Amino acid sequence: MNQLARRVGVGALVLGLAASILTVPALRAQAPGDLQAAVDAAYAKYKGLQEGKNADYIPALAKVDPNLFGIAVVTADGKVYAAGDVKTEVSIQSISKVFTMAQVIQEQGLESVEKRIGVDATGMRFNSITAVEGVRTVAGAGAPEMNPLVNPGAISATSMVKGATADEVWTKIIGFHNDAAGRSLSVLQDVYKSESDTNQRNQAIGALMLAYGYIKDNWQQAVDLYTRQCSIGVNARDLATMAATLAFAGKNPVTGTQVMDAVKVPGVLAVMATAGLYDDSGKWLYHTGLPAKSGVGGGIIAVSPGKFGIAVISPPLDDAGNSVRAQKAIADISEALGGNPYAAKAR
Ligand code: GLU
Repeated sequence: MNQLARRVGVGALVLGLAASILTVPALRAQAPGDLQAAVDAAYAKYKGLQEGKNADYIPALAKVDPNLFGIAVVTADGKVYAAGDVKTEVSIQSISKVFTMAQVIQEQGLESVEKRIGVDATGMRFNSITAVEGVRTVAGAGAPEMNPLVNPGAISATSMVKGATADEVWTKIIGFHNDAAGRSLSVLQDVYKSESDTNQRNQAIGALMLAYGYIKDNWQQAVDLYTRQCSIGVNARDLATMAATLAFAGKNPVTGTQVMDAVKVPGVLAVMATAGLYDDSGKWLYHTGLPAKSGVGGGIIAVSPGKFGIAVISPPLDDAGNSVRAQKAIADISEALGGNPYAAKAR
């Protein structure tokens, strides 16, 4: 090979390498058009799906339009890719558990939640009293099975948010949700009233948590604030932004606000992966690999760390309590975007 040919060869190699580095996609469907196409395709595919049923144990939830269907994806640059109704609000319900847990972790460290509440799966329903009670000896020894995403752990987490008065605690809880969503959210009063009138089971859980020392005082305040946080109104765009805040190391990519310390986010995601979709958490993780959280209001958020936050709202739920359309739409879109964090590319 003469000098020139060698130079051309090396140059081509360098160019080729540079090109391949530049084209390694952060997302498999990296062009905005592809991303929007994935969102549109899932919307079109599942819009007509008539499976599942609105939750009705909180009477106000039964009245929500079952046809409501909205999808939003938020990427690192704060762009929002949406389809369907991303403006209508539903109550956030259990998805709020993620952000109150995150707030306690932010304020008091990862250990606080691990030690006081625990981070293991319970293998039981989200509002199980057996999970709290079953492992106790007559003398009252033995730790309840719980984590911050089931009601006993979530109500305890709410009780851990520091503040001299209920108002002070609430301002912090709603403030954290606002920062993650990037706008000022408010409580859906009809849902709050409906749940307050019918939440005797959660009151029983709150009282037990006080009896066993997981709530230090005023369990009624903890249950009331928990009920209020579950009644916060959110649309699909809000939820996707909240998911994206967790996807991008605690920084809201739309507003640029650092909502929580980056080092604390993986702990939050781990609990979501363990217990985010009720009794189907393992199945969900098996298929998607995505830390996620659903709520009985019909929302699901899911996080592909470093890639995107996604949320879907559609009220009809399956037997496990997870939105039918939301699970399917998120799984499809994530698949199209290469969102599964366990799926390294073969080299
Ligand atoms: N506020 C609801 C409850 O405590 C939340 C349930 C949920 O979304 O899982 O029953």
